[in-house]
Amino acid sequence: MTDDRKNLSCAAFQAQLPELIGSGENVASHPHFQSCELCRALLADLETIAEAARQLFPIVEPPDELWEQIESAIKNEDGRTDSGPTGQD
Ligand SMILES: [Zn+2]
Repeated sequence: MTDDRKNLSCAAFQAQLPELIGSGENVASHPHFQSCELCRALLADLETIAEAARQLFPIVEPPDELWEQIESAIKNEDGRTDSGPTGQD
């Protein structure tokens, strides 16, 4: 009833983003994008990756591993901006 999707945090939204894209929904019309520039930029990145993948693997649906890689790429980027380099090695 309440439109909870609008109130998702970016982390929660990005966690389900690969699934949304994989499901073939029109992800760009998701309410979160209407209010979140950050995730719109992220979607553009993902679309670039997905487009490149489609050219490499001419199949309808990318393999699950691809989305896992994208997911971990998102998490890596998150960690970078959040905690910065440790530099104590
Ligand atoms: Zn967001």
